[in-house]
Amino acid sequence: MTVQASTQSAVTTIEQLYRERTPESARLFASASRSIPGGNSRQAGYWKPYPLCIDRAAGVYFYDVDGYDYIDLTFNYTAMVHGHAYPPIVEAVDLAKGTGWAANNRHMIDVAEQLVDRVASVDQVRFTNSGTEAGLLALTIARLVTGRYKVLMNRFGYHGSLMEFETGTFDHPGPATLLGEYNNLASFEAVLDEHGSDIAAVFTEPVMGAGGGVPAEVDFLRGLAAAARDAGALFVADEVITFRLGLGGWQGEVGLDPDLTMFGKLIGGGFPVGAVGGSKELMKVLEPGGGVFHSGTYNANPVTMAAGAVSVRELTAARIEEMHRLAERMEVGLRNAAEEAGIAFSMRRVGSMMSVYFSAEPPSSSMVREDGEIMSRFHLAALNRGLNIAPRGMVVLATVVDDAVVDEAVARASAAMRDVVAENR
Ligand code: PLP
Repeated sequence: MTVQASTQSAVTTIEQLYRERTPESARLFASASRSIPGGNSRQAGYWKPYPLCIDRAAGVYFYDVDGYDYIDLTFNYTAMVHGHAYPPIVEAVDLAKGTGWAANNRHMIDVAEQLVDRVASVDQVRFTNSGTEAGLLALTIARLVTGRYKVLMNRFGYHGSLMEFETGTFDHPGPATLLGEYNNLASFEAVLDEHGSDIAAVFTEPVMGAGGGVPAEVDFLRGLAAAARDAGALFVADEVITFRLGLGGWQGEVGLDPDLTMFGKLIGGGFPVGAVGGSKELMKVLEPGGGVFHSGTYNANPVTMAAGAVSVRELTAARIEEMHRLAERMEVGLRNAAEEAGIAFSMRRVGSMMSVYFSAEPPSSSMVREDGEIMSRFHLAALNRGLNIAPRGMVVLATVVDDAVVDEAVARASAAMRDVVAENR
């Protein structure tokens, strides 16, 4: 399908085509909006004028209710590291065996042992149902261990949908939260100097995910860990996304030794999950009578754990490397496509995580981008061309992506860029 350059206002052409292609998604969004505020239960799954309604997904594709297929380069915001409905995971999940009980299952030990084996700073892990809950649990442990209440994180960091952590993301008022600037150790040290005795934990992502794929400098990370400890606070590395970047997470790649680590996404193989890991000494507060009461109906349920065990095991060093190679190929392809289309473009890439910007240089964070309008148009144009990326420009790969998928995705992105340029004429 070709989008014609038109004399109509820019938004109209791309958006109009989107609306024309997706009437059933529109109808279902209107219906959802009657019973669900905003018509969605997840901010990240919403975009204007309305999100697609997806019927099913397999491999690198998802299929909407209007019958279109899309290469999905969000993979549920990195969680589906082996793509959708990965056959070994589908096989491992045996719903007929039952889906939950308040007692142990073998798979939880399998996932826990794999994490302990891979991540040097982790002797033990405790499971939750989401990365948000992992953050909540890490904070609870830190509060109990230190006897302090406050948390220090970086501006534009994201550790989940919890009031304490939303201060960094959205500037929500959070009397328990203090902020430093990413990659600016002095800004953290200043806060620790002034408020250190109130701070239970310092949280950071080794690569900011929601904040725009911004990598932390190694010296910043090491210095932050040391500064947190000097102040008597715990240092928490949020590897909910970055665990995909190395066998032992990003901390293994850069030699970081956090007190606690948050996990999520890929360790559940596509099912809801989170986990906190740390030294035996710290984690003992979670033993019965240890001080932190931690429970949850679905924690470490056998479905999530069976899927997670496969997901982690099959994320081998060779596959991580291959994803990085393919991501490099994609980076080159997207940069060339932008140049050919004559559109300002820049991107950040760390391994298989990419963030694209329609500006000559990437901003310090996606949250202060000045290309928001054009990014939104490109997002819709890409959907019109059969490519799904995150509305904020995040692009990720999965182990089932190959050279042909990369090239096809680049071709679709290239067509979408030309559509955006044509609309702006
Ligand atoms: N931490 C990071 C770095 C994340 O990217 C996310 C989710 O995107 C979370 C925590 C929260 O995880 P969940 O969405 O599973 O609650």
